[in-house]
Amino acid sequence: MSAKQSPITTQIDFEEDGKQHGYLRVPHSRNNSAWGSVLIPLTVIKNGTGPTILFNAGLHGGEYEGPVSLMKLGHQLQPEDVQGRVIIIPALNLPAVVAGQRVSPIDGKDMNRVFPGVWNGTITQVVAHYVHEVLLPLCDAVIDLHAGGVSLSLIPYMSMHYLEDETQTQQTFAAMQAFQAPISLMIEEFSGEGLLDYAVERMGKIFLCAELGSAGTLSPQVVKITNVGVRNLLVHFGIIEGEVVIRESQGLSPSRLMEVPEPENYHMAMANGIYESFYELGDWVEAGNPIGQIHFVENIAWEPQSIIAQRSGMLLCTRGPGFVELGDSVAVVARDLDPPI
Ligand code: CA
Repeated sequence: MSAKQSPITTQIDFEEDGKQHGYLRVPHSRNNSAWGSVLIPLTVIKNGTGPTILFNAGLHGGEYEGPVSLMKLGHQLQPEDVQGRVIIIPALNLPAVVAGQRVSPIDGKDMNRVFPGVWNGTITQVVAHYVHEVLLPLCDAVIDLHAGGVSLSLIPYMSMHYLEDETQTQQTFAAMQAFQAPISLMIEEFSGEGLLDYAVERMGKIFLCAELGSAGTLSPQVVKITNVGVRNLLVHFGIIEGEVVIRESQGLSPSRLMEVPEPENYHMAMANGIYESFYELGDWVEAGNPIGQIHFVENIAWEPQSIIAQRSGMLLCTRGPGFVELGDSVAVVARDLDPPI
């Protein structure tokens, strides 16, 4: 499948020096707009030769720190500050971002489950295909900024996967630590195929995924973490001059290296009801003890159902809204990891 097959066009010239604001034009024929398009904004800032880094956010809607931080970066960063190329896409799944919901309201698809995409598929698949065929080959590193969306609350972290290639592992690990998130996390995913992550990793490139804010909100503190982290990565890759700003220099605790290695680190609701967490984010939970319980407001004679910790660790992620349904993620626990990995 070649890039030529993509119906997506752009007026951006990725090889041109300077700053360009433009769009990916995705044809979207519909009842009220026969020859209509979805226009996904992007900014490209290039100066001479050097590495290319793609920052994207908004693969899901309802996640706000990434888009806000990347829009600021697109305004502030000037070509003369840059050696190499920075591609900034604050809202890759624009229809989902505008709707403030996780999946696209157009085709109901989760953009982070459809990679490598389909050139003549539904709109979400078509965008993923363009990213895979046109943008990823340009890049040395891809930084994907997420947040908890409406359903999760979490401690901001930057994460990478356990990788087989040693050089790729070391380069990715160094970049993860350069972001200086409160938590630097090694993670095993259990989401199945279709992640952008795997697409980038299979090309041998550096891929990082951040989870930043919580429960569909926008926190000033987390925006600051994101702004500093994005700038730190530009410094780390030699695209801008300066030094990585470490957390200690801001009066903060050092970035804590942790891991989520097994399915047992994830805890699900096994009933519909109101979820009561017994712990705050950052608290330590012991395996075998209840993390929380589910209440049955329509059947108050029923005892609440406990969620038992399958592993000891720090509560990294909990449920956002009070109501849960069977199968919802309600708790993720992470354990400390000693460097070097
Ligand atoms: Ca997300």
